[in-house]
Amino acid sequence: RKMIRRISTGVRALDELLGGGVETRAVTEVVGEFGSGKTQLCHQLAVMVQLPEDRGGLGAKAIYIDTENTFRPERIMQIAKARGLDPDQALHNIFYARAYSSDHQMILVDQAKSIIKQHNVALLVVDSVIAHFRSEFPGRENLAERQQKLNKHVADLLRLADAYDVAVVITNQVMAQPDVFFGNPLRPAGGNILAHGATYRLWLRKSKENIRIAKIFDSPYHPEGEVSFRITEEGLVD
Ligand code: ADP
Ligand code: MG
Repeated sequence: RKMIRRISTGVRALDELLGGGVETRAVTEVVGEFGSGKTQLCHQLAVMVQLPEDRGGLGAKAIYIDTENTFRPERIMQIAKARGLDPDQALHNIFYARAYSSDHQMILVDQAKSIIKQHNVALLVVDSVIAHFRSEFPGRENLAERQQKLNKHVADLLRLADAYDVAVVITNQVMAQPDVFFGNPLRPAGGNILAHGATYRLWLRKSKENIRIAKIFDSPYHPEGEVSFRITEEGLVD
């Protein structure tokens, strides 16, 4: 494998699970049901990437593609403050774009390349990768077309990650459906959109109150264990 870099999640247990944090040159798919903390993790990473390397970051900027209008500047500022960063500067270091359709989302990924060429960007977030595709291609009859488009989108993201040494983090909301393949009660809404490629899947699920459980699936080189973390005012913590 080529040289990769890692961005700490800010949660020691989660970093250990990930082998040090989310990787550049890879797509990390964060999967979980509503409220499991996918968007909170994306916010946290957009801050963590800005920290110097000795504090788990890459001293770099982030691009945040928001498809569900769940990006909250105040939340970024809150997390940045808790990490000792200037909140306004932290927000300024995130290139934010709202995607209004799946086509727009794909165009934004293409445009992200020119931002990456001009700025020190080490993280690209797409939260959620699946929402537009699911609403524009509903039902079984559109599944093949949706999957084809989604495959192209994910292939674009993988290429971008590798070509520019960027960590790509995408989120995928799961449906409460039985999954006969993995014996897991939850199944990613996009199916196995990341079955191929240099990538892995982080599953989040709710536990009591603000506690969340994380697990990694489909990775040849990550441990199979589970870890827990909490979502607080300061962001995600052990
Ligand atoms: P998902 O994107 O997986 O649907 P989110 O990342 O939006 O889920 O997580 C929502 C959870 O994060 C909620 O349980 C909420 O209580 C918690 N949360 C959001 N903001 C804060 C905050 N400022 N302080 C504490 N918890 C928060
Ligand atoms: Mg969300």
